[in-house]
Amino acid sequence: MTAPEFGQVPTDVLRQWDNDHVWHPFTPMLGWIDERAPIIVRGERFDLIDADGRRYLDGISSLWCNVHGHAVPAIDSAVSEQLLKVSHSTLLGLASEPSIRLARALVERAPEGLTKVFFSDSGATAVEVALKMAYQYHRQKPEGPEDRDTFLCVGNAYHGDTLGTVSVGGIDLFHRCYKHLLFATLTTPSPVATRVPTDHTRESWLAFCFEEVGRLIRAHQSRIVGVVMEPIVQGAAGILVHPPGFLRHVRQLCTEYDIPLIADEVAVGFGRTGTLFACEQESVSPDFLCLAKGISGGYLPVAATLTTNRIYSAFLGDPSEGRTFFHGHTYTGNALGCAAAMASLQLFEDNRVLENIQVTSMRIDERLAVLRDHPHVGEVRKKGLMIGIELVRDRDGLIPYDAKLRLGHQVTLAARKRGVILRPLGDVVVLMPAPAMPVDLVDRLCGVAIESIGEATMDVP
Ligand SMILES: *Cc1c(COP(=O)(O)O)cnc(C)c1O
Repeated sequence: MTAPEFGQVPTDVLRQWDNDHVWHPFTPMLGWIDERAPIIVRGERFDLIDADGRRYLDGISSLWCNVHGHAVPAIDSAVSEQLLKVSHSTLLGLASEPSIRLARALVERAPEGLTKVFFSDSGATAVEVALKMAYQYHRQKPEGPEDRDTFLCVGNAYHGDTLGTVSVGGIDLFHRCYKHLLFATLTTPSPVATRVPTDHTRESWLAFCFEEVGRLIRAHQSRIVGVVMEPIVQGAAGILVHPPGFLRHVRQLCTEYDIPLIADEVAVGFGRTGTLFACEQESVSPDFLCLAKGISGGYLPVAATLTTNRIYSAFLGDPSEGRTFFHGHTYTGNALGCAAAMASLQLFEDNRVLENIQVTSMRIDERLAVLRDHPHVGEVRKKGLMIGIELVRDRDGLIPYDAKLRLGHQVTLAARKRGVILRPLGDVVVLMPAPAMPVDLVDRLCGVAIESIGEATMDVP
């Protein structure tokens, strides 16, 4: 006899087991139990299908990672073919064909100078690896060792949920509980003028942000291990879009003071902002490029930290010198994941995905224009296919709603009734269509978002 877990299970039983056993990430679990969220059993193109057969448009690319849709034949067969050969073999002491091919393909596409690829399995590990490499680099560099001890971060940054990445993050709600476990960092303000300190205008605030990063770097140059930032768009902070030139400005400062720049492209990489990598938009080559989310087309947990020959060389030496990078994860360079990633890169070319983004991104601009006069929309922030619509009680004063109302969540529920999956960041409604989503579906996504915002904000005092 088969145990019940392995046979056919009715939806209500699955739901009971979910409530009994599954602890969901970033989720207030008491509310979850009543919410009856869809239980996804299948994906088809840009839809997700639940255990009751209901279909939903995936409006957030399955938390920002899906690129070409679900159950994509080309990726499915690449993974199946790899599955018939071998699913996983270690990169500790062995090499593997899929990881070699992927490393080569990434280096060919990445900004100039990034020639070395260290694989891991999530965005947090990709950034954690960069932090540790940069830290160790200063202790081993040929110009002479330095025990640099701090990172320069951007306000409201998000780089993942491991303790190292939480240390360089700045989202108070996620991080404050752990503050005694974290290492100290320097923080430069996020160059965003939605709300500015009372003694500033928008222009003077942005000018201050540009100056402040330079001031901090000059004041602490001999202590700074690296500057860590999300290029162009800070995702989890609420889709905050930096003004043009900020990334380039930071790159110039890092070059001038010889401090490594760590670009976290976990969210913005793989087409999200309109180019394959966001750094391209300001012709910037970082010293570390952290990739995850979209790297495998959103199929499998693959991540990579790319760096330069210069950084890499500092780790070379006789094994007895202990210059080795002592870091690795069991599933580093997983063969199935690398096969999915290669197929995804091929589809970018075959389906001209970057060109599709130009079309869909423009359509989103047109569709969301009506929200600019909405009494409860404080701001529509957008870059490429990253969109944040901030809901406020009062538009003119940008007065937020009472957090207890969970307005962003109410919009999610309204959208779900209309067959669209969304996931907000607080009261910021996020639209994150897959880069390959065709324009008619992007149109529908925008329509449902507008209706759902209307419904959720209609009767709120
Ligand atoms: C999502 C995200 C991460 C963390 O990635 P995980 O795979 O969830 O660990 C890191 N940095 C940025 C910018 C992200 O958006």
